[in-house]
Amino acid sequence: MKTVLITGGSRGIGKCMAENLAKEGYKVILNYNKSEKQAKQIKTELKEQGIEIEIYKADVSKREEVKKMIKYTLNKFKSIDVLINNAGIAKLQMFNDITDEDWNEMLNTNLNSVFYCIQETLPNMIHNKNGCIINISSIWGLVGASCEVAYSVSKAGIIGMTKALAKELGPSNIRVNSIAPGVIDTDMNSNLDNAIKEEIKSETPLNKIGKPIDIYKCAKWLIEDEFTTGQIISPNGGYVI
Ligand code: NAP
Repeated sequence: MKTVLITGGSRGIGKCMAENLAKEGYKVILNYNKSEKQAKQIKTELKEQGIEIEIYKADVSKREEVKKMIKYTLNKFKSIDVLINNAGIAKLQMFNDITDEDWNEMLNTNLNSVFYCIQETLPNMIHNKNGCIINISSIWGLVGASCEVAYSVSKAGIIGMTKALAKELGPSNIRVNSIAPGVIDTDMNSNLDNAIKEEIKSETPLNKIGKPIDIYKCAKWLIEDEFTTGQIISPNGGYVI
């Protein structure tokens, strides 16, 4: 069965993808950074169902930590067939309030991490002449969000990287796609009160907020597909059309 490395798998969308892919029989390595307790709990709960996963602590905004994570994974599993770059942070602030520190933290965590993870994994995928890379972007990378300029830039950067890399890596049989979710019910949106959620729903043709499982289903399809590359798929209930 294929090996899948998921960054930011301790909570939200990443957790859902890790649990469900493990249940489907994929060999999962779940990366986490701060949420050690949650990561260990996911591993324990899966073990109770007879499913083994690996968990690995690494701050993916740091090249050296990514390097060690990929080395560990390859020592353990020999190959990384699927890389899901999911780890991310968000911050609401006015453009003029963004400090250099805020900017660098956002870009290092959301965009440079994708650069590091792909670069460190690629020699193995190229050697195998096979690979599937899924980069989690956002609707805000497609259309831009007010008071989230740094976040929007990081997610737009992922879209550029996805398209360019798909062209470069296609001849090596490595597919690179991106999922650009709409508003999904996770910790990342815990700052949204009910009134705002209702407003978002009313502006969404399908009249609902997404769930992590919606993104998992899209990722699973992309993993199994063999003719899709360089595409940005946006499960968003019709919020952005
Ligand atoms: P979440 O619930 O806040 O979870 C974020 C995950 O990212 C956590 O597992 C966290 O791990 C991990 N992470 C953050 N910084 C990290 C770092 N430096 N190194 C390793 N892991 C790190 O967020 P989510 O909603 O599931 O978001 C997942 C992805 O979807 C993000 O890229 C986000 O931008 C994108 N997205 C979300 C939405 C939405 O509405 N929720 C919409 C569009 C796109 P630890 O807690 O262990 O540090």
